Amino acid sequence: MKSDWKDLVGIAICLVPLTASAALNIFACEPEWGALAKELAGDKANIYVATTALQDPHRIEARPSLIARARSADLVVCTGAELEVGWLPLVQAQSGNSRIQNGQPGLFEAARHVALLEAPQRIDRAQGDVHAAGNPHIHLDPRNIAKVAAALAERMAQLDPGEAAEYRTRGKAFLARWQQASARWESAAAPLKGMAIVVYHKNMVYLSHWLGLREVGALEPKPGLPPSATHLTELLTNLARDPAKAVVYSAYNDPRAAQWLSERAKIPSVALAYTVGGNDKARDLFGLFDDTVARLSAVMK
Ligand SMILES: [Zn+2]
Repeated sequence: MKSDWKDLVGIAICLVPLTASAALNIFACEPEWGALAKELAGDKANIYVATTALQDPHRIEARPSLIARARSADLVVCTGAELEVGWLPLVQAQSGNSRIQNGQPGLFEAARHVALLEAPQRIDRAQGDVHAAGNPHIHLDPRNIAKVAAALAERMAQLDPGEAAEYRTRGKAFLARWQQASARWESAAAPLKGMAIVVYHKNMVYLSHWLGLREVGALEPKPGLPPSATHLTELLTNLARDPAKAVVYSAYNDPRAAQWLSERAKIPSVALAYTVGGNDKARDLFGLFDDTVARLSAVMK
């Protein structure tokens, strides 16, 4: 009888790692892709999100903890378009994981599945930290999320064929809910069309493009450079001629420059979550867009 019991324990011990290794190990570079992966994979994946909404996505370091996580990843989901150029290549190289190298199906770059805005005619580093492939901050247009979702569900199906039907079903269900929500956001945001805003960094261009907002200035003198007194004063002078309704910045930005301009130009400063986790309403992708549209609409009321 005793040996039977031992056999059972042996089986139980074997079952646990088998179940765990069957799930897709996903390493998401940014919270928006972690949230999307969760929508599409549900409990079929273990999802690790490498960064938070309170971190500047341009300034991430290839920490040992990230390398350790990348080692066991089946699928790395990132923005691409050079957003992670400062850290991801090092993480890929140090991970020793052949599945997530460039050109492998284990590396999914969201920016490859949408049309990029602001692709420069020529690269001039004197213009600041310009993204050579085009603006990589693609996730604040829900139409981009839909395109990325369709491609990502297919990639998951390719990498985990046993659960392919599940990813495709979940993908379809997500897209149906997303279309409905997008229509709701678009009708709620219709009055925002033409609204002039000052941004902190050029990370809202897809949001502006989607809702028809007009960006009349940026707090950064050049992309990636911190706001300077000279630039802010100049911006204030420009706003006297071409007024804005709000100064919009992201949860990860230092709010001081936005507050400075807000007080002097007598327009509200609006902190947007920018991505999932940026505030307590933006708990998932739906919450992110609900909250973004609500905060911008509050300015126009
Ligand atoms: Zn940027």
